[in-house]
Amino acid sequence: MCGLCGLEEESCCHLFFDYNFARRVWGLCHRWLGVLVMSQIEPKSNFDQFRMNRALETVNNVWNTIWVGVVSKIWSHMNNIIFKRGVGDAFGVFSLVQVKVWLWVSINCRSASFSFSDWCLEPLVCMRLIT
Ligand SMILES: [Zn+2]
Repeated sequence: MCGLCGLEEESCCHLFFDYNFARRVWGLCHRWLGVLVMSQIEPKSNFDQFRMNRALETVNNVWNTIWVGVVSKIWSHMNNIIFKRGVGDAFGVFSLVQVKVWLWVSINCRSASFSFSDWCLEPLVCMRLIT
């Protein structure tokens, strides 16, 4: 059983996409990126939502990196809750994802020269600068 809620089987669908805490993190991320679709709880379908049609592959790499960032930060935060009696902080997790992905983009995409505040305020405008 899930170590957090004790109500459902501990599956990756539940932990990363269907548990209330994960839903809050994905909701913040979707709002930030202007994603208007319902979040899928099946991992492959959820991953497939993080693409832009007709976008450059480099831009879709950024979308994929955001997805990986959310999943990895949800995982480490849930371990913190279970093993270190941490407190659920969805906005804190979401903020860490913004920082990690901005650092990744700044290092890996040479055309990306935008500030962290621009990244937080206008992620889609920043992604248009990536070539
Ligand atoms: Zn649970």
